Amino acid sequence: MIFRISHVTIVLLLFSLSVLGQSMKAHFIDIDQADATLLEFECGVVMIDAGSQVFTNSKKSTEKLINYLDAFFERRTDLNKTINTILITHNHYDHNESLNEISDKYKVLNVVSTENYNTNDVQYLINNEEGVEHRYLTYSDALSKKPNGMYYKQIDPFDCDDNGPVIKVFTGMVEIDEPVEVNGHKFYKSHFSNPNNHSLVIKVVYGESSFLFTGDLEDEGIEYLLANYYGNEEIFEADVYQVGHHGSSNATTSELLKVIKPKYAVISAGFSGDRGKGTGWDHGHPNKGVVKMLNEWDTMIKSEMGKKVLVFDGQETEPIEFEVVSNLYCTCWENNVILKADVEGNIEVGNWP
Ligand SMILES: [Zn+2]
Repeated sequence: MIFRISHVTIVLLLFSLSVLGQSMKAHFIDIDQADATLLEFECGVVMIDAGSQVFTNSKKSTEKLINYLDAFFERRTDLNKTINTILITHNHYDHNESLNEISDKYKVLNVVSTENYNTNDVQYLINNEEGVEHRYLTYSDALSKKPNGMYYKQIDPFDCDDNGPVIKVFTGMVEIDEPVEVNGHKFYKSHFSNPNNHSLVIKVVYGESSFLFTGDLEDEGIEYLLANYYGNEEIFEADVYQVGHHGSSNATTSELLKVIKPKYAVISAGFSGDRGKGTGWDHGHPNKGVVKMLNEWDTMIKSEMGKKVLVFDGQETEPIEFEVVSNLYCTCWENNVILKADVEGNIEVGNWP
């Protein structure tokens, strides 16, 4: 028998060889009790949230973020201090407070938010950064594109040939005045009085690796999400879950975990020793119940060695020790957390420069 190798086979083979071993990094940057995640690709970077903790002595953790970004861009000089897009999950200072300083120091090409105006920091960036494109996302827009998600050039601006991500957003600003019923679940305007429940839900796919970010979406917001995407929940499946609302007790439900099926989870929260308003201690983050649930969740990959960590069992209580035996990380335990993911779905956690 004679085997013939077609041109298509050769092209596919060359393509496979060219993408083999390519990887991205997700930098969950330790900026105390606030969120800033830098997604590093070969052809550019995305930031999900750019917050800051504002301490009672008016010290901000923005400095930590800028120092991290300075070191990053010193290493990746090819990126010319350019951030391709910043997605702000919702309008709270621990998710947007550092935008002004970032736009003063680096070139930002796009910004995506869940509010159109009244978001001073997003507005500052738009006013001060020449040529920045802003996209405001609504839930109704997201649902009109169900189940594929919103996929605009401001969300995913990359033109990376074979080695880029696919970034999609599934939610936006919720506009409910009258009570609505969705797949048997009833929702009221009051459920959305907190900006947390307007958080963007963002999925990043890189080859066979995937990440899910739910911002600070709380129980009602998660219920609304799952009710609206009922029957299509597999779109939220992801290898890495950024634990909602800094590991709060009100933002990771078993219904959500059943859908995500996470193998790795990362919490962004402040060091348990910090005291005062707005700290992890003040909020009770990360919560023991959530850490326990993730630690025991059957899809989570177990770690080779257990580690003793500190968690809270309520607000303004003393931290208590807990043993984590799965691939669960927190900026509150290990400072910066960096995950390397390749196109074949291999994920490593390490301390790369
Ligand atoms: Zn938050």
